[in-house]
Amino acid sequence: MPGVTEKASELFAILAREYRRLPPLRDLGLLDRLLLLLLSKDATAQRAQAALERLRRDFVDWNELRVSPVFEIQRSLEPLEEGDVSPKADRLRRLVSRVFEKKNSLSLDWLKGEQPEAQDRFLDSLEALDAYMIHAFLLSLRETDEVAFHQNMSRVLQRIGLVSRTGSPSKALEGIRAIAPPDDLASFQAVLIRLGEELCGPKVVQCERCKALPLCKYGRGRG
Ligand code: SF4
Repeated sequence: MPGVTEKASELFAILAREYRRLPPLRDLGLLDRLLLLLLSKDATAQRAQAALERLRRDFVDWNELRVSPVFEIQRSLEPLEEGDVSPKADRLRRLVSRVFEKKNSLSLDWLKGEQPEAQDRFLDSLEALDAYMIHAFLLSLRETDEVAFHQNMSRVLQRIGLVSRTGSPSKALEGIRAIAPPDDLASFQAVLIRLGEELCGPKVVQCERCKALPLCKYGRGRG
């Protein structure tokens, strides 16, 4: 019988194959981090980074991307090697436009001085980012790699049986920190939050589509 740490590593390997690991973010400017997170959805880190480089080469700056038609952005997404990149191109442009509409600027440096709740509210209000992207971005603002509480992650790990069921976020966070594979904390949290968002919701649970089912106490119990 594998221990909880081994089971957590196995779970991470399964989910990282399904959803991919995140590219490193800290060396980038803040808007670039968000763009890279959008690009890396369902893409390898290398392909997403190559697409970001291509966008930088093809557009003078992100303001030019903001005012360009989607088909021009699509052309620059060739390094992703995905079929239809128009939704991604549209989302990139929407993100940049929303940042500009809200602040009349494309700099996000001011976010660093805000409280975590205000940062979270602003990112959510852009209506272009998934919950796991917001979490990964906020983690990238911290100086060191960490695990931060997120309801989706806690729910998934409790259902799987890797973290004890508790109503206390701080207890759940303790349990998550104890099992999180230290080599890639950001990706570990991102894949779990994404699973919690897409398949393992508070009310709607789609175990039949979930790659974690073989490891999941709750899912297997549902028959
Ligand atoms: S198998 Fe079901 S309960 Fe378990 S993690 Fe997947 S969706 Fe959630």
